[in-house]
Amino acid sequence: TDETPKLRAALDGVPTYKPGKPGAASAAGAVSYKLSSNENPYPPLPGVLESAVAASGAFNRYPDMACTGLMAALAERFDVPVTRLATGTGSVGVAQQLLQATAGPGDEVIFAWRSFEAYPIITQISGATAVRVPLTETEEHDLDAMADAITDRTRLIFVCNPNNPTGAAIRRRELERFLDRVPGDVLVVLDEAYREFVRDEDIPDGLELYRDRPNVCVLRTFSKAYGLAGLRVGFAVAHEPVAAALRKTAVPFGVSQIAQDAAVASLASEQELLERVEGLVAERARVSRELVVQGWTVPETQANFVWLRLGARTTDFAAAAERAGVVVRPFPGEGVRVTIGEPEANDLFLQAAAEFRKEPE
Ligand code: PMP
Repeated sequence: TDETPKLRAALDGVPTYKPGKPGAASAAGAVSYKLSSNENPYPPLPGVLESAVAASGAFNRYPDMACTGLMAALAERFDVPVTRLATGTGSVGVAQQLLQATAGPGDEVIFAWRSFEAYPIITQISGATAVRVPLTETEEHDLDAMADAITDRTRLIFVCNPNNPTGAAIRRRELERFLDRVPGDVLVVLDEAYREFVRDEDIPDGLELYRDRPNVCVLRTFSKAYGLAGLRVGFAVAHEPVAAALRKTAVPFGVSQIAQDAAVASLASEQELLERVEGLVAERARVSRELVVQGWTVPETQANFVWLRLGARTTDFAAAAERAGVVVRPFPGEGVRVTIGEPEANDLFLQAAAEFRKEPE
């Protein structure tokens, strides 16, 4: 027969995740730099690579499903009991588990928009309804509007701090005031994928905020500052009931032994990794400063990327940057997000941005 399997109606219209384009040879034949996925531009540290290679010798075996070594290392590093930790296949995997644990058809999930593009995708897949609250004119979360959007059906709220793709971060007072307005039976997920790049001391650390708030959990990743994007390992810090729910919803063996061991080695080499982050933060300041000198409006960023609101000129800008040898991330009709990379890559981007400003609109 030509019958086809019945698929869940919730999947209709789910937007597909668009990964950043890889770098490729540019028109001029030169190498191009990938500044489209907020990755760490630096290759693995030798010690981290060694751990991964050593673990790869046993990939005929399943990994340690409980991530025992990694959980112990995280517990020590972040001073939290292991009962409040959960690991997963990238922090996006953990975010999906959080949805599975809290929301389904008829429920609502609130997040700012624009924000991390996986939020609407994983929300719709869960069957819940995505409630997008527009950012303010200064590209920040509109926390008052987000609190006003809470209904009896709200189950989860994503707060992306700093926000992807705008880089804007929420200050302590505003975030605390917001958390005070959220009912205790609604889970707030503080997505801190870019936490290690934050330098403004007024941006609170979620690990402090979650402590006295059983409905708050923190999402972190090894993909950005720690440079393990390709290995897929993220984690959440949450109060026991939520952490236990995360362990139930985990894909069995979802974090490979290679990823676990590389993550443990990264924590052991954290000083060296954070020095690299320091260099990227300095580059972020240089890039932002130069862009302002060129005449761009650059929202203050606390992450490893900058945001240029280009509206209708977005795709033209992305094409021009690509011709100049840098692949950026266009959000058509809105703007481009450009990852801070190694200095050579940032120089090429700055040149492209300067050239583009000279072009007639
Ligand atoms: N949260 C935010 C805000 C992100 O920008 C990203 C990566 N783009 C993630 C989570 C997911 O990262 P990963 O799954 O690699 O941990």
